[in-house]
Amino acid sequence: MVIDMPAEALKVAISSQKGGVAKTTTCVSLGASLAEQGNSVLMVDMDPQAHLTRALGIDPDGLRRTVGDVLLYQTNLVEVSRETHLVNLDVVPANRGLILVEKLLYESKGFEYRIRTGLEALKGQYYEFILFDCPPSFGPLTLNALTAADIAVIPITCDYFSAQSLQVYLRLLGILRRNSNPDLEHRLLVTMFDGRTRLSRLMLEQYRLRYDSALFQTIIPIDNKLRESTVFSRPITEFATNARSALGYRALARELMTCQKRTTLRIG
Ligand code: ADP
Ligand code: MG
Repeated sequence: MVIDMPAEALKVAISSQKGGVAKTTTCVSLGASLAEQGNSVLMVDMDPQAHLTRALGIDPDGLRRTVGDVLLYQTNLVEVSRETHLVNLDVVPANRGLILVEKLLYESKGFEYRIRTGLEALKGQYYEFILFDCPPSFGPLTLNALTAADIAVIPITCDYFSAQSLQVYLRLLGILRRNSNPDLEHRLLVTMFDGRTRLSRLMLEQYRLRYDSALFQTIIPIDNKLRESTVFSRPITEFATNARSALGYRALARELMTCQKRTTLRIG
């Protein structure tokens, strides 16, 4: 018998130095969509604002163990992870303490490899996808996620400032590739797309011309249901299962699944 299976976890850093472009929303919605399609998923909150942690109904202030323990003491990622209320979906939470962790990391040599080393120690602990929700900066927390990742997913919106900061961000990724992760790929995800405005349609055309295959085919539409789902600490796929943004994130999950490296296992 031959079984087709993923070779190893696909590690995805959802990152941009811009705030409010739907990084956290993409992490939760994509994580839930991948889990719904039968994948075992670990999400890692790398942001001191702990929005991902909160989005899953966990109170960051009451936490004893966070991703900070992995970054400072190389604690095993699975030891600091916890199950969410959704099947197949686990999370490593964060809290404000990460601000201090970030300051301490600045002073230690090779700090950007902490998460990557933590993942290497995970051998045998099986996840198909590991998603990192990054803060809106390019400091040690983001560098850790990008150094550990196979793919950087950069959410972009159809406005002038987003296009400007994307160019800067792609240059920063170039520097990171030279320093700590030469194999890092990047993909762009258009979020909060409002097809009713001419500017959005024009910008989308520009993105397509300029970035072509780096763009995910899936476009996430603007959808108020997503804002509501946050208030109830539930991923959109659960909160409003047929909302257009839920359909969008499911399509994104399918697209991302095609990026998995697969292997075949022969039995007998
Ligand atoms: P980031 O993590 O990049 O700072 P968030 O994921 O927190 O961004 O999103 C910023 C705000 O935009 C949140 O209020 C979120 O609910 C909202 N939002 C995200 N995606 C959409 C969308 N497709 N339609 C409408 N609102 C959205
Ligand atoms: Mg965020």
